[in-house]
Amino acid sequence: MINRQRLLETFLDYVRIDSESTHEGAMADRLAVDLEAIGCRVERDNSQAQTGSETGNLFCTLPATGPGQPLLLCAHMDTVTPGVGVEPVIEEGVIRSKGDTVLGGDDKSGVVAIVEAMRTVVEQNLPHPELQAVFTVCEEIGLKGSRHMDYSLLAGKRAVVLDSSGDAGKIITSAPGQYKLNATVVGRRAHAGVAPEEGISAIQVLAHAIANMKLLRIDEETTANIGSVCAQYATNIVPERAQIQAEARSRSDEKLEAQGKHMMDCLEQACQKFGATLEGGLSRSYTAYSYREDDPFVLAVSQACRRAGLTPSLAASGGGSDANNLNAHGVQALVLGTGMTKVHTTQEEITVKNLEDTAALALALMTE
Ligand SMILES: [Zn+2]
Repeated sequence: MINRQRLLETFLDYVRIDSESTHEGAMADRLAVDLEAIGCRVERDNSQAQTGSETGNLFCTLPATGPGQPLLLCAHMDTVTPGVGVEPVIEEGVIRSKGDTVLGGDDKSGVVAIVEAMRTVVEQNLPHPELQAVFTVCEEIGLKGSRHMDYSLLAGKRAVVLDSSGDAGKIITSAPGQYKLNATVVGRRAHAGVAPEEGISAIQVLAHAIANMKLLRIDEETTANIGSVCAQYATNIVPERAQIQAEARSRSDEKLEAQGKHMMDCLEQACQKFGATLEGGLSRSYTAYSYREDDPFVLAVSQACRRAGLTPSLAASGGGSDANNLNAHGVQALVLGTGMTKVHTTQEEITVKNLEDTAALALALMTE
């Protein structure tokens, strides 16, 4: 059994530690102290240069005391803004901020569940396989921590990422991949009144490309959208540059590839037709993943839910998380609900019951 009082107090402590993205240093230091105190080997990677964070990702490993495959338990240390000076308030079993900041239960509900479960296995001498807590930085600003993680520091090939809305017991078995498209059409500047035939209008080229693009709902698992088109010139100048920012998502990697290529083809063909050139292009934000309902890892996590007194429910996600990057690096990773709701708003909240259920689930997973 977990220690509910300690769990709640630790959660309230953690949300009071400022840790907006890139400013995770104090949070990482506190976690290093808390987990060294129970005998974890604590390491950090050197991802700061790529992420811009004050610290690397944090890895806290407990050696095995029993049989079984190593298990990674992941949560991110950073919060969105406004996340400085969080003052948690508990009312009738629900925890919120005072109202001027987020609560930061996204993702400290996941962080604290892992810490409490690890404290419990050590304290009660429960046999467990090798366990590793992986606390990432900069998740909220494009999964940067897990993207630039030193994967050689990981202790195993199976991971749960405690970082989803939905009550404890929710298991995310699939999530889309995403492409970002950031490109600039480069035409030729000319005086629009005196010598327009000497110009190539980047706006006209881009408009032609966009008119040929399949966008929005592509199929059941694929979407695409243009978020911004930028070019601003005086009307007497044939515009030289026009920028487009867009994205494509799909739960199928093949379809994502196809949609990304289609959007690039439209741009390249339009450039060719008008004699313009293209700068920039596609970059992959994250890769899709999907597990069958009868995948052994999905079954094992579902079993752990039942042992923790929870009803497992499988779901698909519409967005990315650290699990996308873990899966792309050959680690089987599922995302679990922690009960956080209204995340990324100052009304964010979580019930004490969900904190307890998530910690109980983490414990059940560790002592499988
Ligand atoms: Zn999160």
